[in-house]
Amino acid sequence: MMRREQLRPISLRISITERCQLHCLYCAPPSGVEELSPPEVLSFEEMLRFVLVVRRRFGVSKVHITGGEPLLRPGVTDFVAMVVRENIADLALTTNGQLLGPMAANLKRAGLRRVNISLDSLNAETFRWLTRGGELRHTLAGIEAALHCGLAPVKLNVTVLRNVNSHEVVDIARFGLERGCQVRFLELMPIGPAAERFWDFFVPSAEVLTKLGEAFDLSPAPPPSSSSSWDHPARDRRGRKGIIGFISSQTAPFCRNCRRLRLTAAGQLIGCLARGEGPNIRPLLRDDDSCDREPLVEAIHNTLRLKRNAGRFSTRELMARVGG
Ligand code: SAM
Repeated sequence: MMRREQLRPISLRISITERCQLHCLYCAPPSGVEELSPPEVLSFEEMLRFVLVVRRRFGVSKVHITGGEPLLRPGVTDFVAMVVRENIADLALTTNGQLLGPMAANLKRAGLRRVNISLDSLNAETFRWLTRGGELRHTLAGIEAALHCGLAPVKLNVTVLRNVNSHEVVDIARFGLERGCQVRFLELMPIGPAAERFWDFFVPSAEVLTKLGEAFDLSPAPPPSSSSSWDHPARDRRGRKGIIGFISSQTAPFCRNCRRLRLTAAGQLIGCLARGEGPNIRPLLRDDDSCDREPLVEAIHNTLRLKRNAGRFSTRELMARVGG
């Protein structure tokens, strides 16, 4: 019988593949991330085993499926169903939306309730340039399909880049509110390719908030205690209400209460995005019920200790591998 730790539950982010059909200029190198061969990628059974050990021993507040692009991994809908069967209270998936149109209804049927969709521009040219080949209309179709089949909330993630999409923040917020989506503006993090041109692109949330304040009534909300998004109830000039959030990793780091733990597709456990370090736990996820899980629990403890306060980033790790 496993002993339950007396700590706050953990929010898990599981990257189920490193593959992505988009190579966003701040996230992945131009040629993309080298594809892992099947034996190097954790199986869904191993990923679920990890979730169950964490739940039994530490408690799990949320499981977030990410990537690479999670919808590229065959069987993702089955994985959603596997996690749902375990009664995980909050299950989310983050996608670039390119394949979501035809998949949304099946994901909903498998038990997914909500989805986060990256939408950095409403201009097809900018979208294509920024994502190095993405089609805006596919992501828009994904958003419509998610809303149509009842995934809720649909959260739109916008990573704000100076002189790329910073002039679009009001339009994207309006687009979201009109459709009943929550819109969240992310500060750029100096990770991977973003580290090289960070000061060219970085826009602080305060600047975005000022711009949005000209078009919306934004109520001051209390700062978040455990969520990374500082959500503001918003109302546009026509009285439409919604939520606009800010994920301000650089100007208002949310490290203090962070209980996030990331698992990469290759099995690396990462305790802190700013450090990108952690052990490979793949050997500890062996398919053997009698297997001693204490080494895994120990590895989780050690990884949680790697958390660093105040958001000082010292990693070159690609976001595409870590999963956002
Ligand atoms: N492919 C999926 C997608 O596009 O949403 C999931 C993976 S992607 C790495 C997850 C999120 O991380 C996206 O919303 C992306 O914009 C964000 N992201 C990637 N690199 C980032 C960076 N350097 N700073 C801030 N956000 C970043």
